[in-house]
Amino acid sequence: MRSASLTPAEVARRCRYDCDSRCCRYITIVLPAPRCKADFDELSWFLAHKDISVYVEERRWHLEVRTPCKYLNEANLCTIYERRPDICREYDLEDCEFPARPSHSLHFDTKEEFDAWRTDRKEEKRRRARGRSAQPTRGSP
Ligand code: SF4
Ligand code: SF4
Repeated sequence: MRSASLTPAEVARRCRYDCDSRCCRYITIVLPAPRCKADFDELSWFLAHKDISVYVEERRWHLEVRTPCKYLNEANLCTIYERRPDICREYDLEDCEFPARPSHSLHFDTKEEFDAWRTDRKEEKRRRARGRSAQPTRGSP
């Protein structure tokens, strides 16, 4: 939802009451794109843990860890508002995800989803390799 038409008070109300302060309940970390079996195995292991997702947005891999900030109180208010980190101050309301979460080109919530995607990807690579080797080469009849 775009926030340009909302006043700061309306934004604050929406964050606190409608959205349950979603922005203060997870962190994301940009990951290097997986390249080898060990990298893919590590992502699969991340996803074996609770409250973890892995997604790809604009070709960048991210780890999402759903864990509430320690400074968010039960009333959904920041208890260190005046001292909050720059990343909180600089959050662009144009990026607000409420009410819908953004869709990503790839998104995995479980190890099983990720492992199934890996299997399909490997199978697709094999199919393509078989297709290439079946192509007539120059000089073939
Ligand atoms: S997602 Fe939007 S509405 Fe929800 S807490 Fe963040 S800025 Fe507020
Ligand atoms: S420091 Fe405050 S604004 Fe920043 S994530 Fe924690 S509760 Fe939210």
